[in-house]
Amino acid sequence: MVTNAANDAASMKAYKPRYIEEKLFINGEFVPSISGRKFDVYNPTTEELAASVYEANADDVDLAVQAAQNAFPAWSALSAADRIGYLDRLADAIEANADELAYLEAITMGKPYIDDFSIKLSVRNLRYFSGKALDVVGDSSLNTRDFVNITLRQPYGVCGGITPWNVPLLMLINKLGPALATGNTLVLKSSEKSPLSSLVVGRLAQEIGLPKGVLNILSGYGRPCGEAIAKHMSIRKLSFTGSVAAGRAIKKAAAESNLKKVTLELGGKSPLIIFGDADLAKAVPAATASILLNSGQSCVASSRIYVHESVSTEFMELMKKAMAELLPAGDPLLPGSRRGPQVDKAQFDRVVSFLDYARDNQLEIPVGGGRQGTTGYFVEATMIANAPENSRVMKEEIFGPVVCVNTFADEAEALQRANDTEFGLYASVFTKDISRALRVAKVLEAGSVGINCSSPTMAVDMPFGGWKQSGDGRELSKYCNDYWTELKSVYIAL
Ligand code: NAD
Repeated sequence: MVTNAANDAASMKAYKPRYIEEKLFINGEFVPSISGRKFDVYNPTTEELAASVYEANADDVDLAVQAAQNAFPAWSALSAADRIGYLDRLADAIEANADELAYLEAITMGKPYIDDFSIKLSVRNLRYFSGKALDVVGDSSLNTRDFVNITLRQPYGVCGGITPWNVPLLMLINKLGPALATGNTLVLKSSEKSPLSSLVVGRLAQEIGLPKGVLNILSGYGRPCGEAIAKHMSIRKLSFTGSVAAGRAIKKAAAESNLKKVTLELGGKSPLIIFGDADLAKAVPAATASILLNSGQSCVASSRIYVHESVSTEFMELMKKAMAELLPAGDPLLPGSRRGPQVDKAQFDRVVSFLDYARDNQLEIPVGGGRQGTTGYFVEATMIANAPENSRVMKEEIFGPVVCVNTFADEAEALQRANDTEFGLYASVFTKDISRALRVAKVLEAGSVGINCSSPTMAVDMPFGGWKQSGDGRELSKYCNDYWTELKSVYIAL
């Protein structure tokens, strides 16, 4: 893992992986793209080139799908114990190479190297998914006279996965794990902004002897590579994590091709409600961490806070201090940096456009509001207060360290405003009144609700996914296999 040695500033800055993989991982081998085209990935801290990576297009997708098709019969025929063996060895290999993975995520998406949380979580989740191979089971029924009826859960065959850039390894594992555990083979496209850690997983799969073609990892853009996966006639299921706009395009492509099953994990604009009796000593750090972790580039970030007017002055003062102190920004390769830059110039410009909007509309900005430093895509931790409910900053996912804080007078008003969004990924409430907490949790329109805690609080055995336009389907938990298997009813006449 990110070791004690790595916690020493010198060794972190000095760390260099032996080699940065730039090829595509198809059929167990690293190969250049058929077109020979490459694209550049920049370090968002230094704005310097980090790597030039081969770009997959529809021809490479075809090749990967063919490899996955060839691998499927043998892989799906393995016993669960054998598949568990491979996945556990892969988890061990990821754990043993955590420094390299953390380094590559630091230089591509700016994730603090010391924050090896997402790498640890990836390992933990993979071990959980590995065990799910034993849970691919059906039901039986004696309810029809002279029959025994049973259901079978069976893999789809070749599945697709498309991941975002914000937590690259974890998002890959959340697809790879249940896909392979249930006997599918996979063609996965990583994000063009942070493809390097995904390619390491390909190398580790090779090292542990995963059969060729079971896992294929492509680097490339949404178009043409992602689109080719979404349209592919031989892919029967596609799991996507990313923006609502891309999710919509993917469902359309699936509908217009082979109506493949599509699960979507999309964006959020998560509300956090703080009642007058809340323990502010807990609520303030939770609210601050929720919006600043990963530089606000978190689908579950609590980006809208509703605080009861009786405690709003005290809350604002505490929150201002916490926003300034809790997660200091800096070079992700240095210890002490808890918050990196935005992933790239496009994302930086997008976040800054919301800050410009706030200024142009004379919104209150009690904390931050601008660029941090002159090199690297850093944005100041920012708070916008009392923005109109229908303003851009309240309605759209900013995906940066920018939180909106508004006040409310009563519970009904707080709930109405919290739910007045097309998103529904995560919601939180802080109160000491347990009846109110549960009443509010029941009414909040979100796939996950935190009571006296905030996002990213979640657990691998709890389902994760979005209501409304935040998604379709669930990841993690005992339900995860349901989304990676077809269900068959078998009627046995006695
Ligand atoms: P994005 O939608 O721009 O890209 C995600 C992936 O989709 C990338 O690999 C991209 O290349 C690909 N893609 C883009 N257009 C495509 C198309 N037309 N067809 C096929 N593939 C296409 O999202 P992003 O900027 O990488 O990630 C940020 C978004 O992801 C945010 O909205 C965030 O909330 C969301 N997200 C959601 C979750 C979740 O679990 N719900 C987790 C992380 C991120």
